Amino acid sequence: MHELALARSIFRIASRASGGRAVSRVYLEVGVLRQVVPEALEFAWGATARQAPNLAASRLVIKVIPAVIVCEDCGAETPIDENLVFACAACGSTRYRVKTGEEFTLTAMDVT
Ligand SMILES: [Zn+2]
Repeated sequence: MHELALARSIFRIASRASGGRAVSRVYLEVGVLRQVVPEALEFAWGATARQAPNLAASRLVIKVIPAVIVCEDCGAETPIDENLVFACAACGSTRYRVKTGEEFTLTAMDVT
């Protein structure tokens, strides 16, 4: 369950960034290639956030970012669907770089 490790890393960032102010929501962008189960991460967050009074009542707002690859041969962008076929839709090349889908970013917090 790597969600617990992820929750701990969010906790470190949120603790530092909030400076002790009460946080109601923590906004995350999580790439689909991270294979995070949002419900599992929310559950892990509930257990982790309890360790700090100013984070204890906070909720995660998780935005899942779809995966897109860029072909190294022709430059075309191909969205990766749930079939996880990593090949250029335009030319069939399997030389690519991942443009989006690997994010794990705390983007904002609602502080009261
Ligand atoms: Zn291509």
